[in-house]
Amino acid sequence: MNSREHYKHCLEFLRRMHHHLQYKEGENQFRIGSYIKAAEALEQHGTMDGIESVRGIGKGMISHFDEIKRTGTSSLLDEVTSYGPPYEVRELTALPGVGPKGAVKLFENSGVTSMEDLAKKIKQGELTDAKIIEAYYNWKANSARIPRSVVNNEIGPVLEACNASKYITDVILAGSFRRWRPDCRDIDILLRVSSYSNVSTVVRSIAKTLGAPIEADGERKAYLRYKIGASERKLDLNFIESDSWGTALFHFTGSKNFNVAVRTYAEQELGCKVSQYCIDQGKKRYYFDEEEHVFEFLHLPYTPPECRDHHLDVTQEIDVICEADVIGDLHSHTTDSDGAVDVEALLKSAKKQGYKFFGVSNHSKSTGNGMTQVDAVKLAKKIREIRKSNIKANDEFRPYASAEIDVRVDGTLDYNPKQLDAFDYVILATHTKPEFDVHNRIEKALKQLGKKPAIIAHPTGRIIGYRSGADVDWVAFFKMCKLYNAVIEINGQGDRCDVPDDLIVKAKRMNCLFAVNSDCHSNNPWATQINAVHLAMRGLLSKRDVINTSRKRFRTWLDSFKD
Ligand SMILES: [Zn+2]
Ligand SMILES: [Zn+2]
Repeated sequence: MNSREHYKHCLEFLRRMHHHLQYKEGENQFRIGSYIKAAEALEQHGTMDGIESVRGIGKGMISHFDEIKRTGTSSLLDEVTSYGPPYEVRELTALPGVGPKGAVKLFENSGVTSMEDLAKKIKQGELTDAKIIEAYYNWKANSARIPRSVVNNEIGPVLEACNASKYITDVILAGSFRRWRPDCRDIDILLRVSSYSNVSTVVRSIAKTLGAPIEADGERKAYLRYKIGASERKLDLNFIESDSWGTALFHFTGSKNFNVAVRTYAEQELGCKVSQYCIDQGKKRYYFDEEEHVFEFLHLPYTPPECRDHHLDVTQEIDVICEADVIGDLHSHTTDSDGAVDVEALLKSAKKQGYKFFGVSNHSKSTGNGMTQVDAVKLAKKIREIRKSNIKANDEFRPYASAEIDVRVDGTLDYNPKQLDAFDYVILATHTKPEFDVHNRIEKALKQLGKKPAIIAHPTGRIIGYRSGADVDWVAFFKMCKLYNAVIEINGQGDRCDVPDDLIVKAKRMNCLFAVNSDCHSNNPWATQINAVHLAMRGLLSKRDVINTSRKRFRTWLDSFKD
């Protein structure tokens, strides 16, 4: 068993232990909890290296990890698997209207052991409960996540329909959308009303305008179904009375863990109860019409929504990158490969948009519409000429020459590594079999580059809603990047948003350097780079971690490769 497999087995072991122990009569609550806490700690840690120093993982657990490594199984887990339903039954809680109890009932009454098993039983006619069948098909249609950018592009009519009502004074997309999570499932919408008495009128009028069926309809809440992207999404409409807007915005933005952290702090330190409607302190009740005021009242620094998944130390102010910090872009395509505009037009447009430095990086030839090395070198020389003449003319705008070079399946480069002098830096990408042997391929590629600075493009290769990305020991991968001083790209293409934020957090802890890149194929780099910036925020990066934020930072990185 290699170290990656071992890690996954151990994580699975901890989760399964937690699941089964919950059903063991008289089991110690502390012991049950210790397994889920250990699973969280291990997941955070991300590797089996240095496991001894991880808090929450004791000697006892490590001896079970050793056994798993030796034998592939755990005798302790074998002892408890008879308690409660099979572990996979937990998946059934994702069915709409089926909670944890419903899932267990489904197992006990119909013998359903997993989602896959449920699909099989429905198909073979063994399960005929109409409600469960409907729940299954609803789940199937809506479970796929779609890129946030798709929601952003198609949500306009929904917002218009909401804003059209005279009873609505404010509309905002909350939940993970507000936190800039790159993928979406359901869409949480907050609507500010002066009084709850008009809610049902408003819901009917929005549903009518959108042609969206009403799924459920309450005094302060309604669900509509509405098509965004290729499938129907649940629009979760939450109506908020004016005075509660601040606390509601906090409540509906999440993350769940962040909200728990704020509430726990408020209760323990200030004796306050924070609800979605107000804050109760002793006999007094406080209302807030802005979210900032909630934080002020609690004497907490304001945490931007993007940071609320990973920044849980709520009393600490976070120093995080913002849109205005970004003055350069380092990954773009022109008509020389598969871009929509030629190099002159792209540079002109970038300069006009306020970029101070800008890298052009067309594909190498093996991607189909890429450039031969001879042509790429010619283009690179031309770009460097433009830079020289800009310097002479005291023009602040600096174009840089790069290439997005394919790393082949065997780790060799699509371009001759000895003829890269014309490029200021290169971008390495595994477009062919993007999930295959990524660590070794990139390491081989970096070795061949010698003293040429490199950015690792869209490292996991994930495409949201299509493929989940490479399975790699990322801690080891980032360590390797650091060794070669390679920069990790945060790619802003809507369906990529790669590397994901949990990996950014890990790489930041290892002091890696990052680039927030547009990977633009049009003349509007900001349209996608904005996703990369907010993803960097989700990963808690400060501007010092990102080379696009100052000419000096970028130059220092380039110069570090010089003798
Ligand atoms: Zn690429
Ligand atoms: Zn690209």
